[in-house]
Amino acid sequence: MIKFNLKCEHGHGFDSWFGSNTDYEKLQARGLISCVICGSCAVSKAVMAPRVAAETSAPNLREKPLVDDVGAKFPDEARKIHYGEAPNRPIMGQAKIEEAQALLEEGVPVLPMGIKPKQVN
Ligand SMILES: [Zn+2]
Repeated sequence: MIKFNLKCEHGHGFDSWFGSNTDYEKLQARGLISCVICGSCAVSKAVMAPRVAAETSAPNLREKPLVDDVGAKFPDEARKIHYGEAPNRPIMGQAKIEEAQALLEEGVPVLPMGIKPKQVN
């Protein structure tokens, strides 16, 4: 047995039990289903509220940090990003000490990245 929420052309909602969806369709095709309130045969299945999915589609935050290696253009690129002339993104590259210092003086946040000394066995 299956219960359908039905609705007539006048918007009367009611429930009815059927042997199966096919039974419902057969009865409906022959006009044997009528509204319990007004007797109208223009009855259709009410649109069921879709079941809300339990899983919320959380954005995939598993993205790896993308650091744009701009190489020797680092001072230029860092400056452009700082002044909004280039898309804001993490970058890395080479800069001379005085270039890095100039950037810091302009308020461009730069972080020196140490180079690991070669390990000697
Ligand atoms: Zn009705």
